Amino acid sequence: MTIKDWFNKRKELQIAHRELEEAQIDDSIGKLWIKCYNCNAQLLKKDVEDNLDVCPQCNYHFRINSEKRIQQLFDEGSFKEMFTDVLPTDPLNFEDTETYKNRLKSAKEKTNLNEAVKCGEAKIDGERVSAAVMDFEYMGGSMGSVVGEKITRAMEYALQEKIPMIAVTASGGARMQESALSLMQMAKTSCAVARLNEAGLLYITVLTEPTFGGVTASFATLGDIIIAEQGARIGFAGRRVIEQTIKQSLPSDFQTAEYLMKYGQIDILSTRKDLKATISNLLKLHKPYVVKEETVKKVKEVSEKKTTTAKKKTVSKKKKVKVEA
Ligand SMILES: [Zn+2]
Repeated sequence: MTIKDWFNKRKELQIAHRELEEAQIDDSIGKLWIKCYNCNAQLLKKDVEDNLDVCPQCNYHFRINSEKRIQQLFDEGSFKEMFTDVLPTDPLNFEDTETYKNRLKSAKEKTNLNEAVKCGEAKIDGERVSAAVMDFEYMGGSMGSVVGEKITRAMEYALQEKIPMIAVTASGGARMQESALSLMQMAKTSCAVARLNEAGLLYITVLTEPTFGGVTASFATLGDIIIAEQGARIGFAGRRVIEQTIKQSLPSDFQTAEYLMKYGQIDILSTRKDLKATISNLLKLHKPYVVKEETVKKVKEVSEKKTTTAKKKTVSKKKKVKVEA
């Protein structure tokens, strides 16, 4: 090795080391700081998290996942998840640029969730509720057959237990990979809401950033009381699609929670900080819950019928196998 070679090698090593060091610094900065999308302020992540994921400078509400929402909204440790055995399948064998099966797999890896909604029983200031909390991080919170089924079951659980139902939405709309099956969930969840209504049970919806498409067009906007979180974008079709269709530009606050409040499409506009207290007050105001027993009985009969038919089906399948054997 000549002296020149030795110097060259040393320089290369130094550059590589510096690059590695820089990458590490950048990474730790990325983990500690975030930038507010609204006011561009550099914020300590911890400050934002301590402030319920709201910018301490301009009050911008960051998008949060279902886990954080559950933590913020319900009494500590009170959320008991249910219907975790309902898992997505790929009945149409759908494939676009990627197969639906692969998309489901990567969504699970990314979010550690089985679907775009978490349902269960929880408490708000001691009041029992049945709850459905959507998660936008799982395939854009899209509503496929599992999301529809879980939300419907949560509503049936509310009926059975005679407790109020709360749905927190965050969705881009229907899940296109399930085609008509996902559109059917709009009718299904709406029917479940109708039953809650018939029984006289309280149903509150909380629309969060963003709520669009089939979710807006079904159970999200069918609440007895519709609450929207400050700054949330809520609509059916997206802004660009509407502008292209009507060939007009829309006001800058179009499809925001504030805009919908101004035009009477929601009942309450709430900051994240006030959300729990607002719902808690509503629950206490509507107590005692007077429930029509007739409807509860009817729903019970239907769900029992469903289970017996399902059981019969499995029995007959088993018989078939035996015959074949
Ligand atoms: Zn800000």
